[in-house]
Amino acid sequence: MGMLEHTAAQYRSLRLSAIASELTQLLADAEEGEMSYLSFANRLAEHELSRRQSSRVQRNHKAAGFPAQKHLEGFDYRHQTTISKRQVNALLDFQFIDERHNLVFIGPPGVGKTHLAIGIGHKAVEAGYRVLFRNALDLVEELELSEMKGELKKKVSQLAKYDLLIIDELGYLPMTRQARYNLFQLINSLYEYRSIILTTNKDFTCWGEFFHDDNVAVPIIDRIIHHSHIFMLGGESYRLKQKTAG
Ligand code: ADP
Ligand code: MG
Repeated sequence: MGMLEHTAAQYRSLRLSAIASELTQLLADAEEGEMSYLSFANRLAEHELSRRQSSRVQRNHKAAGFPAQKHLEGFDYRHQTTISKRQVNALLDFQFIDERHNLVFIGPPGVGKTHLAIGIGHKAVEAGYRVLFRNALDLVEELELSEMKGELKKKVSQLAKYDLLIIDELGYLPMTRQARYNLFQLINSLYEYRSIILTTNKDFTCWGEFFHDDNVAVPIIDRIIHHSHIFMLGGESYRLKQKTAG
């Protein structure tokens, strides 16, 4: 084995795989740039760190389970005038995640709630946060399955590993008593510990009704809206607009 291969293998065994796999190029760049020893040492570290960072972001993107490629760049604020670009951009320092605050988007179908939630989720992943997207019905089903296996606690702590949980479209369909209880367990575990983005078509005044006014409804709502930024979205459905545009 030549010295180069040997050195690369050593880097690999030290789990410095980005350096290992691009050692030839890194050396050539160093020679070409007549780098100092210190700059070269630094370059190796920077290279490994930046590759790790980007593969972590890539993994987190996959793990997030976004149902569609929606980006804030594609959001048209001329159509959706009940929220401003400034308001959305203000969220992108992710202070709300660092402070474990929630975002709630309330509004009728088609006004861009899910688009905004995914768009913000994408940016959060890029900023290095772990994000999970779940449709409310899927989430409830997931919790129910775990609960039936006697693994609700385990499931909840698994979901609490993410910095940000996006619960999309809560309130479209009624839930069973058990489902509400499971959801309460989750929300309670995330409270002041993780952030939630919630999208819903229900105003809070209707939530009691949605949750059948049982003793779990009020504490769920209470925990979500405490420390939350609430955005009431209105206007015309974007889907309808597109249908009638031509
Ligand atoms: P909601 O979740 O409020 O029902 P969606 O976010 O799913 O609405 O929006 C419906 C469709 O319209 C999606 O394809 C979404 O990308 C698009 N859309 C909605 N509002 C906008 C907007 N302001 N600019 C660009 N696309 C939009
Ligand atoms: Mg939606």
